Amino acid sequence: MDQIGVVGLSYRHAGADDIAGFTLPKDDVAERLAALRTSLGTAELVYLATCNRVEVVFAMPDGHGAHDLRAEVFRALTGRMPGPGEARSTLRTWIGEAAVEHLFLIACGLDSAQAGEREIAAQLRGALEAARTAGVCGPMLDRIVGEALSLSGRLQKMAADARPPSLADLASDRMLLHLRGDASAKLPAHATAGDSQSTIAILGVSPMTRRASDLLHKAGAKLIVVNRTLEIAEELARSVGGEAISLESFRAQPRDVAGLIVATGGNEPVLDPAAVHRLAHAATRPMLVIDFGLPPNIDPKAAKDAGLARIGMDEMIQAAQDRRLAQLMRLAPMRAAIDERLTRIREQLASRAIGPQLAELRSSFERIASAEADRAIAEELHALEPQQQEQVRRLIETLAHKLAHVPLAGIRAAAPHANSETLEAFFKEARLQRAERTASAPRDTKSPSSPSLPIQRKEIPMTTPKGNPLPAESPTQSIALFERARRAIPGGVNSPVRAFRAVGGTPLFISRGQGAHVQDVDGRRFLDFVTSWGALILGHAHPEVVSAIVDAAKHGTTFGAPCPAEVELAERVTASYSALEQVRFVSSGTEAVMSAIRVARAFTGRDLIVKYAGCYHGHADHLLVSAGSGLATFGKPSSAGVPAAFVECTRVLPLDDDKALEDLFRREGSRIAAVVIEPTPANHGLLLQRREYLEKLRAVTRANGALLIFDEVISGFRLARGGVAELTGIRPDLATFGKIIGGGMPVGAFGGSRNIMSRLAPDGDTYQAGTLSGNPVAMSAGVAALDVLVRENAWEKLEILGALLERLVAPVIEKSPFPIRLVRAGSLFWLALHDGPAPRAAITLSEKNSERFASIFHAMLARGIYLPPSAYEVCFLSLAHTTADIEHFATALGESIQLTAQRVG
Ligand code: PLP
Repeated sequence: MDQIGVVGLSYRHAGADDIAGFTLPKDDVAERLAALRTSLGTAELVYLATCNRVEVVFAMPDGHGAHDLRAEVFRALTGRMPGPGEARSTLRTWIGEAAVEHLFLIACGLDSAQAGEREIAAQLRGALEAARTAGVCGPMLDRIVGEALSLSGRLQKMAADARPPSLADLASDRMLLHLRGDASAKLPAHATAGDSQSTIAILGVSPMTRRASDLLHKAGAKLIVVNRTLEIAEELARSVGGEAISLESFRAQPRDVAGLIVATGGNEPVLDPAAVHRLAHAATRPMLVIDFGLPPNIDPKAAKDAGLARIGMDEMIQAAQDRRLAQLMRLAPMRAAIDERLTRIREQLASRAIGPQLAELRSSFERIASAEADRAIAEELHALEPQQQEQVRRLIETLAHKLAHVPLAGIRAAAPHANSETLEAFFKEARLQRAERTASAPRDTKSPSSPSLPIQRKEIPMTTPKGNPLPAESPTQSIALFERARRAIPGGVNSPVRAFRAVGGTPLFISRGQGAHVQDVDGRRFLDFVTSWGALILGHAHPEVVSAIVDAAKHGTTFGAPCPAEVELAERVTASYSALEQVRFVSSGTEAVMSAIRVARAFTGRDLIVKYAGCYHGHADHLLVSAGSGLATFGKPSSAGVPAAFVECTRVLPLDDDKALEDLFRREGSRIAAVVIEPTPANHGLLLQRREYLEKLRAVTRANGALLIFDEVISGFRLARGGVAELTGIRPDLATFGKIIGGGMPVGAFGGSRNIMSRLAPDGDTYQAGTLSGNPVAMSAGVAALDVLVRENAWEKLEILGALLERLVAPVIEKSPFPIRLVRAGSLFWLALHDGPAPRAAITLSEKNSERFASIFHAMLARGIYLPPSAYEVCFLSLAHTTADIEHFATALGESIQLTAQRVG
């Protein structure tokens, strides 16, 4: 798919005016497309323009890979040269497989504002037709766009009953259920208001109430529209066949209505308690109020006192979330179908791309065989009769012909998984070897040496189809390197858990990573669920991150002075995380937490820090108390080398224990500077917290003047764009980040309100610094990674992938003879090997369970799957993992569990 690319802009990051600026006039499309193709220098072109997106899909001529055409597209569509950086900031681009995937998502409505919308497929079909008419389309795009459309048709059938979720839909559904008298029932598709002659009042005209009115009107409900300005009410009332009333008269004399949907956008309740009572009094049957107001338009207490059932925004949002999840789950098979189709196309295109070289190899194989036959006949077989010689020759040639496909089939199978460089290297090597053989062949013999093809080269990644274990080769290179490493590096590693002590064996030395895979120095390829402990949410060597790193490095790796990229990243991070007004970058998560604690102590003027048993926050002295996995794995509660005086200022709480929290604050609340917690602890297994507990923690810290620090080094930008703070709606005072925000480069960050952060030098009195902090290479990698996450709507995709994993692993786990469960939050998951329900506080595994994990770990490794080498570590999904990878994981896990049951019991 190397030849294909897409350049475009959509509602995701551009306004309607920007999009309009890239839209060609309708009447000139045919003529302009021909000119566009010439000016872009592409072989084929399809141009899609809708009201919320413009996309130029292109294929480059044979032999040319697609590349970044943003500046060219900008110029061609707007007729002007872009300013410096303008094309990059205005337009997005996808190259190769990412381009095809993007196109598929568009065609299937999965990239639309309204997930699952169908109109887009017709628009894409129109675009393809227009390109054909203009003579700018060709076989490559015909095929790819055709695939996208056929996929979309299939998915539309799959999702026939999927209704798009929106708050207005929810409101109208709830109201219809209420009219039908059964709020707990499920609403049938195309529900109506039933026979009810009851009226619904719409109070306040807004986009939300307009849509709800429209839906209710279509379902046959009777409506009255109330608004402060009567004309606006009249206008909506006309379109939904209802009656219009001014707010004044409704307040004074409410009608008898069965339901009220209110959204006035005001800051005060729109009906005072007396009016609410009048409303309740006027109703001749139970009445439901749906209140879109934030703050409430109808005071909940007044509604309750008047006996009205009221649904507020909290409940609506919760219901929307539930629906959204259901919608995502419904869309999961669509995503899986897209992945499947991509795999198929990738395989077909890769085989086609290497077709000419394969044909050349095949004929060279046959030529060599024929020459070898000539030589044998002239030498060893010269005594045979001419007729027998001819028979031998024919036999050799037939055999060569029949067998020629054998090595080629191997190359073809590997082709979709190898990148173009690897394949190029392979063919170059093959050619070189042939040339060498030919050159070194003795002049007086007619044939070159034997026709062995170098298909065992290590660079060709191994494929590990499901249920097909890798050959158990010994990792000889890793063993040798580890021997050397142990002499030069303590324990042979630069971070303890890497040493495999918890699972036994030699750590793998990794030589490269690509997408969801890593390859060790022995040439063995593994599906990676460590992904550098969660730093690589886009997978290894993501092209956009790599190119950002290379581009930045070319201009200098570090200046020890401010650079533009750090501002870019700071703006993105603060815009994503609502509790952050300011952020400062450091080079690791450890530094981030250490610095956040320093600023918390400075801000509160207090010394004590509270941390949780089972949470890990890096290896700063005062936090190495009841630390996470690494230490628990070694069975030590703390670390040597930490002075007792440091730890004196640290208190350790058990997770999920309200009483312990209250007791501690009762005893020492006035001395506590901050409580630091991983809000979704992921360093001692995955210990999912109750929201109420986190809320309590928020309330207790606030009441005692202590700061709350969310350590989102793992969860930040992984579980949601705004981390656990976004998911729970809880606002910490400070938050720390690492991993993802560096795009795989060493970056950490801590931030909070301007008020707190201004304590830092140079504005304030709290010193914190770093030679390499905010260096342009790491910052650019972070910017690229965050941009891809937002553009790709990563959190939705990862949730779908995680849900699929949960679904596929469930039956596997069910069959396990020993206790094992999958605990998951988004793209984080943990194989918990212990009895009982998913723990919320740190637990210690029995020796037997640790042994079982070690066995599962090695069995998975033998099946080409690289898990974190400790039973307490969580696994990470990335955007590079595919549904096929998840299937492979589930199958391998099933086999590994059964093997472990036999081996360990
Ligand atoms: N905080 C949390 C939650 C972590 O998981 C980690 C490391 O895994 C850290 C802090 C320390 O980060 P680093 O290893 O970058 O120092």
